[in-house]
Amino acid sequence: MVGMISYRYVLIGLSALLFLAIAPNNAIAQTTSRTARLTAIPSPKSVLGFDPGDDRTIADWNQITEYFSRLDKASDRVVVKPLGQSTLKRPMIVAFISARENILALDKYKEIQQRLADPRKVSATLQRDRLIANGKTVVAISCSIHSTEIVASQMSMQLAYDLATAQDVETREILQNTILLLIPSPNPDGVDIVANWYRKSLGTPSEGREPPELYHHYAGHDDNRDWFMLNLKETQHITRLFWHEWFPEIVYDVHQQGSNGSRFFIPPFYDPPNPNIDPLLLRQVGLIGHKIAADLQGAGFKGVLTNALYDTWWHGGFRTAPYFHNSIGILSEAASARLMTPITVTPDQLARSSTRGMRNAIEATTNFPDPWTPGIWRPRNIMDMELVASRAILSLASKYRTNYLSNFYELNRRNVEEPFQPNQPIAYLVPAGLSRDEAVAKLVSSLMDQGVEVFRLDAELHVSYGPQLLQRTNSVSEKLGTYRTIVANTASMQEVPAGSYIIFLAQPQRKNILALFEPQTYPNRLTANGEAERPYDVAGWTLPLQLGVEAPAILSIREPVEARKLTLLKNENEVRADLALPLRNSEASPIRNPTARPIRIGIYKGPVANMDEGWTRYVFDTFNVPYSSLLSDEVKQGNLNSRFDVIVLPSQRSRDVTEGNPSSNVPADRTQGMGENGASNLKEFVNSGGTLICFDGSCELAIKQFNLPLKNVLEGLRSSDFYCPGSILTLDLENKSPIASTLPSTLSGYFINSSAFATTDPSVRVIARYAKDNLLRSGWLLGEDKLRGQIALAEVPLGKGRVVLFAFRPQHRGQTWATIPLIWNSMAASATR
Ligand SMILES: [Zn+2]
Repeated sequence: MVGMISYRYVLIGLSALLFLAIAPNNAIAQTTSRTARLTAIPSPKSVLGFDPGDDRTIADWNQITEYFSRLDKASDRVVVKPLGQSTLKRPMIVAFISARENILALDKYKEIQQRLADPRKVSATLQRDRLIANGKTVVAISCSIHSTEIVASQMSMQLAYDLATAQDVETREILQNTILLLIPSPNPDGVDIVANWYRKSLGTPSEGREPPELYHHYAGHDDNRDWFMLNLKETQHITRLFWHEWFPEIVYDVHQQGSNGSRFFIPPFYDPPNPNIDPLLLRQVGLIGHKIAADLQGAGFKGVLTNALYDTWWHGGFRTAPYFHNSIGILSEAASARLMTPITVTPDQLARSSTRGMRNAIEATTNFPDPWTPGIWRPRNIMDMELVASRAILSLASKYRTNYLSNFYELNRRNVEEPFQPNQPIAYLVPAGLSRDEAVAKLVSSLMDQGVEVFRLDAELHVSYGPQLLQRTNSVSEKLGTYRTIVANTASMQEVPAGSYIIFLAQPQRKNILALFEPQTYPNRLTANGEAERPYDVAGWTLPLQLGVEAPAILSIREPVEARKLTLLKNENEVRADLALPLRNSEASPIRNPTARPIRIGIYKGPVANMDEGWTRYVFDTFNVPYSSLLSDEVKQGNLNSRFDVIVLPSQRSRDVTEGNPSSNVPADRTQGMGENGASNLKEFVNSGGTLICFDGSCELAIKQFNLPLKNVLEGLRSSDFYCPGSILTLDLENKSPIASTLPSTLSGYFINSSAFATTDPSVRVIARYAKDNLLRSGWLLGEDKLRGQIALAEVPLGKGRVVLFAFRPQHRGQTWATIPLIWNSMAASATR
C-alpha cells in the first residue's frame, strides 16, 4: 500500500464528525450512506480535473501516485505497493488489479507463480495440475518507460479505473482469471521532467517539443537498454518484482514511435529472431499481436502494422527480457502526437514514411491492411488504441488461463531437464584468481539480480572446457550459435580451483544464460541494393566479453558434484566479501594518482541531451570518481586550466557540440553549442597542459578543430563496404603506454558505428589497434579489412598537454567494464605531468 492519507479524506472525516455532533438522531443512517460515499471509486477526472488523454493536459508523478493511492483506498479490486525509489528518489509503484478474492490472497498466487517458474519445486504431475488449476494468469503492463512517449502513463489511470468499476460479465471474468501488475511508469523521474517541461512550453513555440535534457538522469532513452545489465535502480526494482517474486506470464511494454508512419505497431516482430528464444514464445507473441490487431480493427481503428521494423534479436529491452525468463513480451508503438499536443499528418508524410517491413504508410499490404486516413492525430487516439490493446491481452490471458500457465511451466521444465548432449556446454565457469574482481562481482551480481543461480565452488573440480571465446571466427558459413557446431577438444581434464563461480545450465533460465554467455553471430542481412539492413538495436552483447571476464563453457565434470562442493550465492555482498572487495559506495578510487593533489575532472554536458554523457556520469559515479559537469557557456568563457586538469568529451556528433540545437523554437539558453570559440578554448586548455579525452564521435571535433594528424578511415564509407552496429571487437594493446600497462595485451572493445584512425605522424602514440586476426568477437562486422590493424586508441601530444582519442566507446551504456580501466589510466597519466 502507499502510505499516504489524502487531505481530502481528512476533510471529509472532520466534517463527518461535525455532522455526527449536530445530528445524533440520524447518526446510524447517515453513517451508512457516508460509507457508501467514502468508498465511491474516484474517476481520474475527479482527482486530476481533466480526463487523461485530453489535449494539452498532463498529469505529473504526484498526481498519478495520488490517483492510484485513492483508487487503492476506494476499490477492493486494487492494491498499490511501493517498488523502491527511482534514481532521483521518487517513489516507484505497482498497482495489483484483480477480483476482490484474488487481491485478498495475493501471497497464495505469488507462491503458485514461484513454483510454476521452478519445476524443481513441484513434486508430481498431480501437484502441477493443481497449481495450474488454481493459479491466475499474471499480466504486467508497463507504461511510458520512454517518458516523452507520455500517453500510456496517462492512460494507466483510465485503465485502472475502468477495471475497478466495470460490472460487465467479460471484465468480471478477466478479474477472476488474471492478476494485473500495472506499472504507471517505470521511470517516474522522466514523467516529471516531461510534465514540467511541457507545462512550461505550453503556448510557446516550443510546445510539444522534447525536453532538452535526458529524461532519465543517467540513461535517457537508454533506460530501456539495461535489462540484462541492471545498472539502473528502476531496472533493478522491476526485475526483482518480475523475476524474483511474480513471474508474469505476459509482459506488455507500451511505447510510442515517430508520428508519420503506421498508427500502431504490434507483433509479430521482424527478423531476425534470437536463436535462444523458444519458438513457442514467438508463436504466443504472434497470437497476442493478432488478437490486438483484430480487436483494434473490430473497433474501427486504422493504420495497424505488424511484422515490421522491431525484431527479437537483442536481449536488453523491457519486452525482450521476458523471453529469457520463459514469458511472453509484447510491445506496442503508437504514432506520437507532440507530447500531449495534437498534430496534423499529411498524405505526403505518410507516403514518405518507410521502414523494413513497410514500404510506406499509405499502401495496403498483408501486414498493414487498412492504412490510416491522414488528418489530425491526438493523444486521445493513442490512448484509445492502448486501452483496446491492454484489454485484448487481458481477455486472452483470462480465456486461455490454463494454457498460459501450463506453457510457462513446461518451458521452465524443459530448461531444467534438457537432456545431456555431447560437446554442448553444461555450465559456464568464472575461474578464481582472475584479478578482475570488481568485474567478476558485477557479472555475478547482475546474474543473481535477474534470478540466475550462481554457485561458488567450495572444493576443486576437474572439468573439460569448451572452445575459448577467442577461438570463434565469423565465417558466414557457420550456423547461428557457434557453440553448437564447434567440436571441442575434450581430451584433457583441467583443475578448477575452489573459490571459482559456476553457472549450471540446468535451471529455468537456461536460455538466458546461453544468450548472455555465447558470442552472438548476427546473420548477414543485406537489402536489395547490397547495403546492410540495420538491426533494431545492437548485434552483440556477450556479457563476460563486455566485462573483460574470462568465462569458459564447461563440457563435462569428472567428479560427481555434491552439495558439499557448492554454495548457492544469495547476493552481491556475499560475492564482494568472497573477493575481499569493499562494499559498494566505498571511497576507493580506481585512479592510481601518484600525486597528492586530486585530479580535477570536467565532463562536457552540451545543450543537446546526450545519452553517452549520461552513461559517462554513471560510470564515474559508480566508480567513485569525482567530476563536475562542464557546460557550453563555461567552455566559451575559457580559462579552463584554472578549474580542470582533465576534460572528457563524451561521444557526440561534432556539429551537436559546436552548434548545439540551432532550432529557433528552443529557448535561447538551450540552443547554443560551444562554437568555434569554445573549441579554440579547449585547444588552449590542452596547449597549456590540460588533458582532453574524447570518446568516439567527439574525436572528430578535436581532430578537425585542432588539426590533429589523424584521419578517420571509416568516414564516408557506405554500409555495403563497412558496417558494424554494436558489436564486440578485439583490441591489441601497446603495453608500453602507461595507459595500457595495467591491462592484458588483448581486450574486448565496444564498437557501435564507431571510428578507426590512421596516421603517418610519428608523434602520435598508438595505445590500441583493432586486431589483425579474430577481430569480431560477438555481433556483426561487414568489411573487416577496413578495420584490421587501424588505430583504436591514441594519445597525441599538443603544446604542454595531450589529447587522448578513443575511437570506440570505452564506457558504452555502463556495460563495457573491460575497457573502463583505460579511462582511469588516461587520467592517472595526466597527474604525472
Ligand atoms: Zn519507446
